[in-house]
Amino acid sequence: MPRTKRLSAAAKAKRRSGKKKETCAHNYNQATAAVDETQSSPSSTRRRISKRPTLRTTIEQRKRKYKAHAVFSNVTRSNAMRKKYAENTSFRSLWRKRMQAKYVHDAVFHAHWQRRMRQKYRSNCTFRCLWRKKMQLTRAEKYKDSAFRDYWRAEMRTKYLDETFREQWRHTMRAKYKDAAFREHCRSQMRASYTHSVSNRMLKKQRVKNCRARQAATVKTCFNSAIAVFRKHIQEGPIFTCISCHRHLYRQSVSGFKMSKYKRDSNAILDRIISAFTNSDADDKRYVCITCHSYLVRGKLPPQAAVNGLLLENIPSALRVTELESVLIAQRVLFMKLMALPRGRQRAIHGAVVNVPSNVSSTVTSLPLTPSKACTVAAETETSTAI
Ligand SMILES: [Zn+2]
Repeated sequence: MPRTKRLSAAAKAKRRSGKKKETCAHNYNQATAAVDETQSSPSSTRRRISKRPTLRTTIEQRKRKYKAHAVFSNVTRSNAMRKKYAENTSFRSLWRKRMQAKYVHDAVFHAHWQRRMRQKYRSNCTFRCLWRKKMQLTRAEKYKDSAFRDYWRAEMRTKYLDETFREQWRHTMRAKYKDAAFREHCRSQMRASYTHSVSNRMLKKQRVKNCRARQAATVKTCFNSAIAVFRKHIQEGPIFTCISCHRHLYRQSVSGFKMSKYKRDSNAILDRIISAFTNSDADDKRYVCITCHSYLVRGKLPPQAAVNGLLLENIPSALRVTELESVLIAQRVLFMKLMALPRGRQRAIHGAVVNVPSNVSSTVTSLPLTPSKACTVAAETETSTAI
């Protein structure tokens, strides 16, 4: 018996894996063969070929669809045109020239295009941002040309005459000026313009002069009007008496007195004030000063009101003396220089005031005795009366 060669463990594993592979390959081949047999039958192949559309059929179908469906035709055409526009440079330039010419000469197309762009600008935020950037760049590039610059300035000046646009522009620029970078940019531009351009410098100086002249005229007008009002007020003099404090004031310091202006709680105070006011001027109107009014509105008695213990009593008839008598009994004799002020009917003291004390008792004793103290008797005669 031939002796079988002993195999190593690695060789045994290799043989086992080889057998497995052979088994898998055999199974796969069997399955493939079954499928091939099924598919490769002449009847099934004929059926499949007859079902598959040919190129000509597809084209015919697409042509029919293109003619029948407007949407499909539009989409197909626009897609084809877009593809061509993107890939073909010469077609792109040709198309642009054609559209530009149409935009210039065809009014209907021009209006339609503008309407469409406005609609897109309003509705599409991305498009709006892109369009703004594009226009800024285009304008900056164009602005280098002096002709365009002049045209643009004239256009903006014309637009600025419109009040709505002007207000909108100011609002925008104010909002923009809050940005520190933009502010600094504006300042540096103005400085550069002032430094390097003589005409701009002169123009700026002239503007400043005009502005200052306008301000001075305004101030002068205000000052003159204020003086005119003051003179009008003082022409009347302090003839308006406050019903509460009995002070004589100017017109601008008082207002008309009405009971209805005040609260019901202050009616008692008002009655006291009215009863204490006995001024019988020709003017029947009653006035109250601003200070008293402020207290009465709050229902309080004004501190300077006459009824607040400041009411002056009437002078008795026995104390009513003449001017000479009052000088004779005065305990002080004053010497002062009074001057009439140019306006306002007021007087002013000029210089020092000299106060001379007077000995009233010696004056009184040196006067002639009164009839009762002189021990005289009045008697009447037929011819004359003797004292
Ligand atoms: Zn008053």
